[in-house]
Amino acid sequence: MGNTGEPAERDLPLVVLGEMVIMPHMTVPLQVGQGKSFRAMEQAWDEGREVLLIFVAEDEIEAYKTGQSTRLPPIGVVGRLEEFMKLPDGTARVILEGLGRAAVGGVLQREPFYRVRCTVLVDAEPDGMDVEALMDTVKQQVDAFVDQLGEVPQDAVAFVHRIEHPGHLADIVTYAPAFEFRERLEILNEIDPMARLRRAHLLLARQLELMKLRQKIQQDTKEVLDQGQREYFLREQMRIIRRELGEDDDTEDPIDELRRKIAALVAPDYVREQAAHELKRLAQQGMNNPEAGVIRTYLDWILNLPWGEEHLPEISLHEAQRVLDEDHFGLERVKERILEYLAVRKLAGTRMRSPILCFVGPPGVGKTSLGRSIARALGRSFVRISLGGIRDEAEIRGHRRTYIGAMPGRVIQGMKTARSRYPVYVLDEIDKVGQDFRGDPTSALLEVLDPEQNSAFSDHYLEIAYDLSQVVFIATANQLDPIPGPLRDRMELIEIGGYTEDEKLGIAREFLVRKQREFHGLTAEQLMITDEAILCLIRSYTREAGVRNLEREIASLCRKTARRVASAEAATPPPAAVIDASDVAGYLGAPRFSIGLAEEHDEVGVATGVAWTPTGGDTLAIEVLPVRGKGALQITGHLGQVMKESAQTALSYARSRAEQFGVDPNYFDEHNIHIHVPEGAVPKDGPSAGITLTTALISAMTGRPVRRDVAMTGEVTLRGKVLPIGGLKEKTLAAHRAGIRTFILPKDNAKDIAELPKKVRDELQLIPVASMDEVLTIALAARAEPVATRV
Ligand code: ADP
Repeated sequence: MGNTGEPAERDLPLVVLGEMVIMPHMTVPLQVGQGKSFRAMEQAWDEGREVLLIFVAEDEIEAYKTGQSTRLPPIGVVGRLEEFMKLPDGTARVILEGLGRAAVGGVLQREPFYRVRCTVLVDAEPDGMDVEALMDTVKQQVDAFVDQLGEVPQDAVAFVHRIEHPGHLADIVTYAPAFEFRERLEILNEIDPMARLRRAHLLLARQLELMKLRQKIQQDTKEVLDQGQREYFLREQMRIIRRELGEDDDTEDPIDELRRKIAALVAPDYVREQAAHELKRLAQQGMNNPEAGVIRTYLDWILNLPWGEEHLPEISLHEAQRVLDEDHFGLERVKERILEYLAVRKLAGTRMRSPILCFVGPPGVGKTSLGRSIARALGRSFVRISLGGIRDEAEIRGHRRTYIGAMPGRVIQGMKTARSRYPVYVLDEIDKVGQDFRGDPTSALLEVLDPEQNSAFSDHYLEIAYDLSQVVFIATANQLDPIPGPLRDRMELIEIGGYTEDEKLGIAREFLVRKQREFHGLTAEQLMITDEAILCLIRSYTREAGVRNLEREIASLCRKTARRVASAEAATPPPAAVIDASDVAGYLGAPRFSIGLAEEHDEVGVATGVAWTPTGGDTLAIEVLPVRGKGALQITGHLGQVMKESAQTALSYARSRAEQFGVDPNYFDEHNIHIHVPEGAVPKDGPSAGITLTTALISAMTGRPVRRDVAMTGEVTLRGKVLPIGGLKEKTLAAHRAGIRTFILPKDNAKDIAELPKKVRDELQLIPVASMDEVLTIALAARAEPVATRV
């Protein structure tokens, strides 16, 4: 996740350092004498240990000491005091760690030390192709530098190689002893990470060149290098560097450039041959030929796909477990399965036909984020593509180059994003792949996932085989049924159900709040959300199986708090914000969902069912109203075909039993039956509302109210037998969420009860039934007033 939250403002004691720069991520020991900075640190040591560091030239420092100068530089660094030890001679020994850049704001206080407002700046997430290239170049420069210097500990070099962020790399590079204060300051003042790294690159290049020059001078003292020559030499170097960075106008001939890149491409021979062949075609046709663009795009793809071998770290199960626990709350069974899967991979290595994991469950339960964790645990890069709505084979496999605007398919596009041949690759919404006349994407997917075939995956655009055999594929789906059989057979399915309220609370408390707080640059002191407030969000602002909306609402609280913190007056630092349940509405507006039972009283002709939806379960009131008429059935509320048939069945059943319930046999000749399921815009379907429809109908006929704290699910036959249904976990969770106390389910589903969360089993009375008679005995309350018809 990027750090693009709102910048956090701080008011911090100011420390002025002369002729030195402490960059972010660096820890530096210092000795400081008495003075304003000393007092600032003394105060900070008691306060929060953070200070704002600014760096000035030696000749300016006096002015700061005496208070003459208050023209602060634009950029400083927020530093943390790791140690502050007063020595007998009145000075102090301190250890300072640079935390991050900050934009320096106004002076809030001058005595006995400066206090200054500042805004913490977070490096933007870099993107684009050139990031990696430039970082590699700089790392090579560092190597060259170290070669020349000697005596640099190997650890330090390895450390530099592990840095993944351009801004961070630039900052660290300036610690090379050859840099001067001004140059370091230049790097500090550059906020854009890529611009910063480019600058570091130039400075390093100059240093390297100077080093070489010095050697040369030493070697050959007779050869006097006059100023002009030296300058020429440096300018020449600068020109080459600029050209490499694409900043120069007189760029290299494009054909030469491609030739050079192809020569440098790390790839199997057949790839290089294909590239060379295309380049030859390009050279023959000339750059002005209309086809040149097509060939160049093609070559760009070849040049930017990962083809090479990489070293993968050994899988450590211990570490994997740690990562999974660090990222996800609960999900014990799922984590077990993942660890088993990793264990098999570890033992069998790449020889194995490892199964493809497929996480199945409603949105927001952590399917994608588990994939991300697996990537982290394996030390691999992570990509995801969404397959939702794909109907065309070409979207998977690409279009032939003869099509205008042709491109590789999504699978290969993902590989380009991954920048590695060994990523963890999440195929989202595999259940939403459709098929039509344009060919079946499923067969292409089968090839992608088949270890026998995917070492030579053929993309129509690439034309040459691409090896996907080292990719760890993971699929996700909301539903199992729509996944085509052959695909399903190839995958190991791991079901992740919805969360109970307790689990959601745990996830929010341990993960979501912390994550969003960090994302928005807030500290725990600035924002506390109580458990009651989280419960309020869960109950009144979200209605979902997962935690996606819950996370969104928490983000919204953080955003509003960040805004308040940022705009608070300096003189009155904002008090710690504790958001309690009673404050939530003030932040987010009126509650969106009412808690508790749908109906206020036991009612005649209204029964509570539960529906399974791809987004989890939901309760659903079914209303039946008999009106005078001639036995017609009217159904409204956007019901699907299967549900309409259920209504017919319910009606036939009720008719056949009318006498048994003490209803006049002519009742149906004198009444029309109107069945309605509210929230008409939401499509509803499936046979599992059968017993609910029947109950509502019989309640309406007999005037006996239905107990409002009872919910039910089950298909019904014409003879009143109750048949099993699917999605019991989601349905019971939804009923539990809605405050239902008794839940009627088909007898054949009784075996699934053990799988339900304990909380649900404890708090919901679960009654398996085999017949409609049993349903009615439980669900109907004693007869109220005789209200057979309400016309
Ligand atoms: P899905 O892919 O199932 O739709 P996501 O992976 O996008 O869900 O999850 C939505 C958000 O909820 C993510 O921020 C994720 O980290 C968080 N989340 C879901 N489940 C958990 C959990 N058990 N522990 C911690 N965070 C979770």
